[in-house]
Amino acid sequence: MAHALWRAVARKGDLAVDATAGNGWDTAVLAELVLGDDGEEPGAVLAFDVQPSALASTRRRVDERLDAEKASRVQLVLDSHATLEAHVGEYEGARRAADDEQIVAARDDARDDARDDGSSSVASRGVGVACFNLGYLPGADSDKSVVTETTSTVRAVRAAIAALRPGGVLTVVGYVGHAGGAEETEAVAALVATLDPKTFTAATHAVVNRENCPRLIVVHRKETTVERNRT
Ligand code: SAM
Repeated sequence: MAHALWRAVARKGDLAVDATAGNGWDTAVLAELVLGDDGEEPGAVLAFDVQPSALASTRRRVDERLDAEKASRVQLVLDSHATLEAHVGEYEGARRAADDEQIVAARDDARDDARDDGSSSVASRGVGVACFNLGYLPGADSDKSVVTETTSTVRAVRAAIAALRPGGVLTVVGYVGHAGGAEETEAVAALVATLDPKTFTAATHAVVNRENCPRLIVVHRKETTVERNRT
């Protein structure tokens, strides 16, 4: 279900963030959605994980699915997603500098046509899709003691929401079957419930006819801020 939402929203040239790369299944899907081909906006994916083995697995999967040039635009971050704000900020700074260079080059090439209002023809900036798949890495050999934690998750989710571009989406899959999982999922749901409805739509989806099913939490940033008057 989360993938369907990403597909509806992602644009070539977007920045996508996988805050919990794990084995790279989600990272690879995000890369296919946002990385542009020749002549399109390039786009990029930032994928975080605290386990080197997880990032190695993500790198393998991305390299299998994408050509070398596109794979190089998937940046793996061996760090907690609690640092998301700084990493996205760094990426955005570099992207702004590249946009500025493009505008200067356009002015030099065709002074009459060049824009001088600082705008560019590139897609709007910010994060198009951000995803979290909480808990621990599944699999017989994985270290189940490495698990996402409420404080860093909430901090990272807050930063991801702040970074969404208009029209962008955040999905969080929370698990309730392991120690701390229910509290963590509840903390994220409580956070998104406080978002300004003029700017965001926040929703949760839960399967109710099976025990311990994961819960999907979604935040969609509206294209424009909407003032709504009830009559
Ligand atoms: N979406 C992944 C996939 O496609 O394979 C699975 C993610 S798995 C459920 C959760 C991952 O979060 C684990 O690989 C774990 O190492 C990672 N993780 C735990 N704490 C983290 C943190 N603070 N920052 C980033 N990743 C973290």
